[in-house]
Amino acid sequence: MPLYELIKELSESSGVAGFEGEVFDVVKRHLNGFVDELYSDGFGNLIAVKGKGKYKLLVAAHVDEIGLIVKHIDDNGFIRFAKLGGVPDHVLLGQRVKVHGVKGVVRGVIGCKAIHVMKEDERKQLVTYDKMFIDVGARSKREVEDLGVKLGSPITIEKELVMLGNGLVCGKSLDDRAGVAVLIEALKRASPRHKVYAVFTVQEEVGLRGATVVAYSVKPDVGLAIDTTIAGDHPEIAVHEAPVKVGFGPVILVADGRRDGLGGGLIAHPKVRQWLVNLAEDINIPYQLEVVEGGTTDAAAIQLSRQGVPAGVVSLPARYLHSFSEVVSLADAENLVKLLVKAFESDLPI
Ligand SMILES: [Zn+2]
Repeated sequence: MPLYELIKELSESSGVAGFEGEVFDVVKRHLNGFVDELYSDGFGNLIAVKGKGKYKLLVAAHVDEIGLIVKHIDDNGFIRFAKLGGVPDHVLLGQRVKVHGVKGVVRGVIGCKAIHVMKEDERKQLVTYDKMFIDVGARSKREVEDLGVKLGSPITIEKELVMLGNGLVCGKSLDDRAGVAVLIEALKRASPRHKVYAVFTVQEEVGLRGATVVAYSVKPDVGLAIDTTIAGDHPEIAVHEAPVKVGFGPVILVADGRRDGLGGGLIAHPKVRQWLVNLAEDINIPYQLEVVEGGTTDAAAIQLSRQGVPAGVVSLPARYLHSFSEVVSLADAENLVKLLVKAFESDLPI
């Protein structure tokens, strides 16, 4: 199956943090017959093991996406919601959504009052999510409940993955379904030299929760996260804010963090970082290095497990992260598959 098809299927499946079941169905179907072991842990992570050997390499790609959850249904049948993960308010308005009720998917739209009736100063202000609601076409709370929707039902954005020019694809949840697709494809192609624990982690977007527990149970010798990172190759962003570019190869992380001073993030283990650089050069693929502020990955949790785990990150550069219309390059994804296959088939940096 071409990588494009796999990315499309994963991008269009639904799985906000804590409700990742549908994505796992896709992952399991594609891994069937290609791995030695496939199991879930008590928290909900899916773990695929391939290869023998003395050392364990844990590779994490998160299956959860940012989204929403039903918080309240009013008497007139309108739904108020809370966010699951870092959803910017300004990308929500007008989105069509899928509310995942117990009787199946219910379509809806995120509404707010029309611009025509906004006062002059209101028009200039960002409409915040607490001023928005979801309209599923129901006339009462009872009608909403009859559709199977109730407090706690997860909500995803409805978005088809499409091709843009120059081998770029645009869709929702490419953070990190593009990474999930890459990990599946690499597992299929590789004959690992060590024990690869490919972990499809849950609840990354709400605080690296799945990676935290799985790193403890697997006890890896080396940890890697496969994720997406901020590309700055478009208008209204300065090159020094996000120097990596879409289409210029996978990104090998030097350091990241959520706050000033790179707090809460990861300083990639120098041996792991250099190992990835050497592998990329060995197979002659382009790569980019980065220091990034404003986010981190599962690797930040993995490195702190038990007595510490040497950890690193390889990412796909992505435009418009957390916008429900993220853009990545298929060429970058293919090169990242090659890099991972090489990593699986090479000695670990320990
Ligand atoms: Zn991510």
